[in-house]
Amino acid sequence: MKVFKFGGASVSTVDRIHNVGNILQEYNGEQLMVIISAMGKTTNALEKVAEAFYAGNTVESLRLFDVIKQQHITTAKYLLVTHYNACLAKLTDFFTEVEWLLHDKPSKPYDYYYDQVVCVGEMLSTCIVSHYLRETGIANKWIDVRDVIRTDDNFRDATIDWTVTEAKTKEWVQPLFRENNIAITQGFVGSTDENESTTLGREGSDFTAAIFANILDAESLTIWKDVEGVMNADPKIFSDAQLIKELSFAEVIEMAYYGAQVIHPKTIKPLQNKSIPLHVKCFLDIRLPGTIIYNKQVKNLPPIIILKNNQALLHLSTQDFSFVGEAPMSRLYNLFGQLKIKPNLIQTGAINVQLCMDDKSDKTDQLAAEASQLFDVQVVKNLTLLTIRHFTKDLMNTMLSGKNILLQQQTKETVQVLYV
Ligand code: ASP
Ligand code: MG
Repeated sequence: MKVFKFGGASVSTVDRIHNVGNILQEYNGEQLMVIISAMGKTTNALEKVAEAFYAGNTVESLRLFDVIKQQHITTAKYLLVTHYNACLAKLTDFFTEVEWLLHDKPSKPYDYYYDQVVCVGEMLSTCIVSHYLRETGIANKWIDVRDVIRTDDNFRDATIDWTVTEAKTKEWVQPLFRENNIAITQGFVGSTDENESTTLGREGSDFTAAIFANILDAESLTIWKDVEGVMNADPKIFSDAQLIKELSFAEVIEMAYYGAQVIHPKTIKPLQNKSIPLHVKCFLDIRLPGTIIYNKQVKNLPPIIILKNNQALLHLSTQDFSFVGEAPMSRLYNLFGQLKIKPNLIQTGAINVQLCMDDKSDKTDQLAAEASQLFDVQVVKNLTLLTIRHFTKDLMNTMLSGKNILLQQQTKETVQVLYV
């Protein structure tokens, strides 16, 4: 069996959904477990719905949701004739689920509502694709992934309960392949043992695909993207970015850690554990070879460039000029846990700590406020963090010329520079 994952861009338009059908035809006769994300930018749009709802703005949240609804209905209309009514009936069930909730007054934490609302994006996209495939004669079984992927209730970043998930996959999913070649399900979504929907973190569909690949002992996982494969830099920023034909799992973990938007970082472990190769292929031209990622050492990699904008630098100094000791440091790390912050770079000196993090929502200010009980705190925002794996001195000089460097850290393989 092969596992396929189609991201949001691969199902963002009617034409692209046709294209998914064409790709699956190419694999006619093979067993395929297909994981699909929400269409296009639906997840972002649903986030806005959840925000409006939580701000007490019911009317606005319903209006925003209606836009999403109409988009999906329109797509279904363009794609379907004989299966339109069946599809609409299912879509309507999902719409109603969300609208019911939006009429409530929020009484639980935001992250809970976020997951209940946002998960519907994947429900809608898979429902449409599954009906479309059936309409074109590609038999498939649609699975509500919430019946299979069990998580804890850490909403928005839920942790997989592997024991239950494995048991349910073997009980519900595996037997389906006795009578079907194709199963379609949602990425990114799971559910608690109390049937509350959860999500696995943004871009989490890759991870879902890896979970199924692992449990089903797939021969490979293919992630279908709108790029040629894994590139050594973002081609939107660097016009001379080049394709990397093969990578080791270890390298990809490093790349993801430093913020390369290749693959969700949690994707690798389930594959590596069972030596399941990961293909990153282009859905726009399936003849392109793409990138293969596997349990093999790959030498002579080009420099890999990762840029992260919107960085904040927190400059923390001890209040009494004493050395930075383990007590304030361990409290600082506890704060990261409490506030769900993953620092991108930390450097410790005698009496200060410098810390670089993504400046998103109000996390920076929250951390600054909390840390000010331990340290004197200064914050600088709007910075860029450049990471180069397998760097060369020449490349560094070119990229950093004229930049005002605030912090730099270097190992044998990786250099990181924070600049204005
Ligand atoms: N739809 C979700 C997101 O946009 C999950 C995914 O695409 O992997 O983050
Ligand atoms: Mg996506």
